[in-house]
Amino acid sequence: MHQYKGRLIVHTGSMFSGKTSSLEGDVKRFSIAGYRVLVFKPSLDTRCGADEILSHDKKSTRAYALEDLREIYDYLKEKEVQVVAIDEVQFLSNPSEEVVEILTDLCSQGITVIVAGLDMDFEGRPFEITKELMPVADYLHKHHAVCTGCGTDAWVSHRKTKDKNRVVLGATEEYEPLCRACYEKIEKRD
Ligand SMILES: [Zn+2]
Repeated sequence: MHQYKGRLIVHTGSMFSGKTSSLEGDVKRFSIAGYRVLVFKPSLDTRCGADEILSHDKKSTRAYALEDLREIYDYLKEKEVQVVAIDEVQFLSNPSEEVVEILTDLCSQGITVIVAGLDMDFEGRPFEITKELMPVADYLHKHHAVCTGCGTDAWVSHRKTKDKNRVVLGATEEYEPLCRACYEKIEKRD
């Protein structure tokens, strides 16, 4: 039992690709196997109550909100945690080097870390934190939504409105997953 120690598992991909559901699936599997698991999310993501995460398939999991990733150490002090899961890592307020440093430190302490995060914003630019975590992961899973244009694997979460803010939270109806070809077609038309 409990041979699974200090691994970094990264779930990434576009919106509607099932990243959060996959993170929850891992959380469930580790819990069933008897590991002590804690789930976190950046406090910026307030789509639902401060203490749960919600995947698009409407399943919810209890999660602690983090203003700053360093707060995670307070939670770990209190309990003997073996696995931590963090949803929406791209929304953490810490600089990406600090995120890598903290998560690497947790792994060095024997804690397995599962994260889920968007790989790119709506213009196809990588999110810095995800970009830094992908190469150092032990296990990297890139998930794909279905392109609403042609039904193949999607590549990016295209924003249907003209809002240029990088982060528009909760407005999932404003996005559509598109493959590269369909995205380029739409970009040329606009
Ligand atoms: Zn397509």
